[in-house]
Amino acid sequence: MMRLLFLLSALSLSLPASGLADEKGKGKKPAQPKTPTGYTDTPYLPGGKWRVHDDARPRPEVVTPGETAASAPSDAIVLFDGSNLDEWVMEKDGSPADWIVKDGFMEVPPRGQGAGGYIKTKREFGDVQLHVEFATPEKVEGNSQGRGNSGVFLLGGYEIQVLDSYENKSYADGQASAIYGYKPPLVNASRPPGKWQTYDIIFEAPKWDAEGNLLKRAHVTVLHNGVLTHHHQDFLGPSGHKRVANYNQIREKGPIKLQNHSNPTRFRNIWVRELDLSANE
Ligand code: MG
Repeated sequence: MMRLLFLLSALSLSLPASGLADEKGKGKKPAQPKTPTGYTDTPYLPGGKWRVHDDARPRPEVVTPGETAASAPSDAIVLFDGSNLDEWVMEKDGSPADWIVKDGFMEVPPRGQGAGGYIKTKREFGDVQLHVEFATPEKVEGNSQGRGNSGVFLLGGYEIQVLDSYENKSYADGQASAIYGYKPPLVNASRPPGKWQTYDIIFEAPKWDAEGNLLKRAHVTVLHNGVLTHHHQDFLGPSGHKRVANYNQIREKGPIKLQNHSNPTRFRNIWVRELDLSANE
């Protein structure tokens, strides 16, 4: 009995103490170390700009990530949140985008309905990180390139193919996640028809000199449903059908486009981060 009482009194004493500690710690930022945290006397890295652990080197900007990797982080531009197409217009004439919006997604309209055509963002982008979710039609119709065909175009012309590639044979450089007409994905990571799928795309725009000579090709890294399908892959130029692409347009910024291929493919949760790839130089 004595032992029990002792235990109870020890417990009651310890509870407020730990509760107090929790209360104290709440909302408090951890103490920052005294500067400098880096060094001013270490050897220079190649290029001669920064020393190893250089104290003067700018610390990266703080970005608050989304709740999950699919949610937009704090510095993203939300291009479609399921409610409206305010960020989009028709590619051909800049009129309001005519795709169907319902139940938190957009859908390519059926043939013959509305003005028809591709849609593009009002904004123009260069180097970006782009998140797109899509679902090919649950009801399977057609085959090969006729099943759930759409596409995500970077810089107005560099296509990452959207297709129902789940047990659907088509040419390799035209299946889902392919750089259309050039590079098949490393693997086929497609989900079944009707299931939501993700593309996470890191796109580097081509660079040109003042005379219009190409200095650097466009490059892309793609994750399809979290699976790597292209790793820093170059483009031959803006994508084309039945021809070899080439850099026939001098363009460092352009809209993101979605393809109307007359298949009722759906999109949702589209966001983009503009990248400053020189920030780490
Ligand atoms: Mg396509």
